[in-house]
Amino acid sequence: MYTVPKLADYSPEALKRAADELEAALNDQIRRVTNEDEWKSFRDRWLSRKNGILTRLNELWLKTAPPEARKEVGKCINRVRPFVEQRVEDQRLWMQAPTIEVVSPGIEVPAAELEQYARRIQLEKEKLDITLPGIPHPIGVKHPVLRVMDEIVAVFKAMGYSVGEGPEVETDYYNFESLNFPPNHPARDTQDTLFIAGQEGKPARDRLLLRTHTSPVQIRTMEQQPPPVRIVIPGKVHRNDPLDATHSPVFHQVEGLAVDTNITFCDLKGTLDHAMKALFGSSVKTRFYPSFFPFTEPSADMQVSCIFCGGKGCRKCKFSGWIELLGCGMVDPNVFDFVKQNGYDSSKVSGFAFGMGVERIAILKYEVEEIQLFYEGDVRFLEQFA
Ligand SMILES: [Zn+2]
Repeated sequence: MYTVPKLADYSPEALKRAADELEAALNDQIRRVTNEDEWKSFRDRWLSRKNGILTRLNELWLKTAPPEARKEVGKCINRVRPFVEQRVEDQRLWMQAPTIEVVSPGIEVPAAELEQYARRIQLEKEKLDITLPGIPHPIGVKHPVLRVMDEIVAVFKAMGYSVGEGPEVETDYYNFESLNFPPNHPARDTQDTLFIAGQEGKPARDRLLLRTHTSPVQIRTMEQQPPPVRIVIPGKVHRNDPLDATHSPVFHQVEGLAVDTNITFCDLKGTLDHAMKALFGSSVKTRFYPSFFPFTEPSADMQVSCIFCGGKGCRKCKFSGWIELLGCGMVDPNVFDFVKQNGYDSSKVSGFAFGMGVERIAILKYEVEEIQLFYEGDVRFLEQFA
């Protein structure tokens, strides 16, 4: 068993010799440690504060050294101490979760021991604890635009509306003509879009384009089912609008259509007023301004009382107290004429339609400054909605 020797010679050579002996003793003892109890007494022998070998080094080497040798002795002990501590810790790791990396370099391991050790690693790898909880895979959250779209749809679903969808690549007929935008009508200029190339041979109404609104699905729905109709249509639309803080060439809309007997403008106002209260809170007010859309008559722009200042006037509402939110109106009889054969006789049924920009509502709800933030995919922005 190793005991710390007293030093008679404090020369660097003598100190080196003493440190080498100590190291050799440590390596020798490590080999005898095979279980946890042995490791504990091994650890105490070297590291115990009271009587461990490191403590003895201080007492027998440093404290008794002549003043002129103290510096060298101190340096020597400072090299030995972390080495010993590391060896003791390595030994614990090796016993608990053996991996080859924690074996200190320089230690010779007999072949038989190495083989046994490799077997332990293999067993360790194959160990499966079926009582452990599974590894969670975060599934992420809905994008804010999708979330707002779902919220809007849910409000109308609760009022008995069904949900429909239509193609993003649409014909001129559904996107414009059947919605009362005749060829060369100036209203088409406000909804310029991308046209699919190489269709010159087709009749104008069959030419394909990226839809500029979700309204074509109104016609598609009425072609599929006779009145009554109550439907909301969420979807992506495209317009030749330059990108700025509130406009994007690609954005999302939720379209709504209700057709039945005796549907009046009062129904339109009541429905949208209820929807806005559901989306922004019960204190929000609505008002309607005359407007123009080819497929509704009369048409209106709906405004909501400013959700930031409650109508008192602030920078966000340009001190008007109101924010313009969506377009709506009573379905134009000319539109019904396109689906007359399916029971939409404008002398018998009436209806209203509306369309709202999802990003516009998301910008208000979440106070987002720039519409681009929704499309850039920057996680620093998106994770706020997680
Ligand atoms: Zn305001």
